[in-house]
Amino acid sequence: MTSIAERLRGLDALVADQVARLAPQMDRARVGTIFEVGDGVARIYGLEDAMAGEILEFPGGLMGLAFNLTEDSVEAVLLGSEKGIQEGDEVRSTGRLLEIPAGPAMIGRVIDPLGNPLDDKGAMQTQVRMPLDVVAPGVIKRQPVKQPLQTGIRAIDAMIPIGRGQRELIIGDRQTGKTALVVDTILNQHDQNVICIYVAIGQKRSSVAQVVKVLGDRGALKYSLVVAASASEPAPLLWMAPYAGCAIAEYFCHREKRDVLIIYDDLSKHATAYREMSLLLRRPPGREAYPGDVFYLHSRLLERAVKMSDAEGGGSMTALPIIETKADDLSAYIPTNVISITDGQIFLKTNLFNAGIRPAVDVGLSVSRVGGAAQIRAMRAVAGTLKLDLAQYRDLAAFSQFASDLDPQTRAQLERGQRLTELLKQPQYSPQPVEQQVAMVFFGVRGHLQKAPLDKVMDVAQEWVRFLELERPQLLEEIKEKKQLSEELANQLNQAAADFKAAKGF
Ligand code: ATP
Ligand code: MG
Repeated sequence: MTSIAERLRGLDALVADQVARLAPQMDRARVGTIFEVGDGVARIYGLEDAMAGEILEFPGGLMGLAFNLTEDSVEAVLLGSEKGIQEGDEVRSTGRLLEIPAGPAMIGRVIDPLGNPLDDKGAMQTQVRMPLDVVAPGVIKRQPVKQPLQTGIRAIDAMIPIGRGQRELIIGDRQTGKTALVVDTILNQHDQNVICIYVAIGQKRSSVAQVVKVLGDRGALKYSLVVAASASEPAPLLWMAPYAGCAIAEYFCHREKRDVLIIYDDLSKHATAYREMSLLLRRPPGREAYPGDVFYLHSRLLERAVKMSDAEGGGSMTALPIIETKADDLSAYIPTNVISITDGQIFLKTNLFNAGIRPAVDVGLSVSRVGGAAQIRAMRAVAGTLKLDLAQYRDLAAFSQFASDLDPQTRAQLERGQRLTELLKQPQYSPQPVEQQVAMVFFGVRGHLQKAPLDKVMDVAQEWVRFLELERPQLLEEIKEKKQLSEELANQLNQAAADFKAAKGF
């Protein structure tokens, strides 16, 4: 009888023998040969074990992504220029899926979707690598949105409030102030303890540089970073950019339990890049020539926005995706998709923008489905009917254009609407703290502007806030601290408004 030890030795030898016989095959599984390359796509023999989405190493350090896996070949998209590679070159699989380095050292930086610096501030020290594509946290790890994300923009914080962890779409035609709106939102986070990530997808380099400059000049790079894949980069890099930004956001949200704001500017160009990639990979085109899984592309990304439960640390990721429409058409494929995925949308319109109503928010078509729960109570109290008032006013205004004599009630309603519209105009780069917003909206909705000449509304409202700052700072302080509008506080504000108007003589 053989002892157990002897039998184990026999097994060892058997395994060693098997490994020796399989080794060349394993090699074939991990090394392949290019047989065709062009248009940013390489077709490779071998690589039998490659996974979908696995990183492949090409000569000269170029990286690629395994996409279409067939029985005897692999199609890979190249994450860079194909200049240095040709047919017959060797390709190795790495066993790794896409990931990006992440860490606090990235704050203040401008990076590409692979994590390389695009600014001239040198290398970054990061210890952690985050996967680009992960499944979003499940319901158990989440909690409802409950804390506001203040944009500093009156029209939004008053009527379309956004909560931390929400996904709110910014949608509108070209040049309607979409980027301006999100940049102002970043600027407003200077004292809000929120990390901001701006992902620029397919924009001109000069536009990205402009945003970076504004953030730098106004001190916002202390708490922000920019991930950029500009229009001249290959489509796969553009496609990767939002996932890279999201992975970095997840580092701050899940590991450091922080509140993060991430902006995707914009997902229309992201969808276009994905369409380009898919066509090069000869995948069948679907509606508007987008591949069939373009809905999945965006839903999977936006599902990663989250408000984590307290047990999970309570971090949050608020996502503001941007979509560009053509001729205000919300029913095109990509806009409808993203509208259905997000918790609401802010619709910016060219005609309002050109009429000088900036930010050009279409009050009727913009909604926030969850943010109301997060709005501070003082704001909810003053802005309660503002949205309805304004929507009614716009209808009335369009209707009464043709009427020659109006009854006094309609006239009063029109005048009120005009003044509230003026009050919500806000120049760029001037986000406003919420207590000042409350005071301003209060002044408007309580009718204190009724006697102010229409073209002076903005000036009067500004002076009113300045008056409070100088003469009654305790009222602003109380709104800020208590976040409520008690009856007593409302009375004091009314008294202050009366004093202010008396001093101004109207
Ligand atoms: P694109 O489609 O080209 O990305 P966009 O929708 O992002 O455009 P912006 O670039 O933000 O629009 O703004 C277009 C122009 O309008 C800019 O010149 C900007 O300075 C101006 N603008 C935006 N918002 C305001 C505002 N609230 N007040 C005054 N000007 C504004
Ligand atoms: Mg823009």
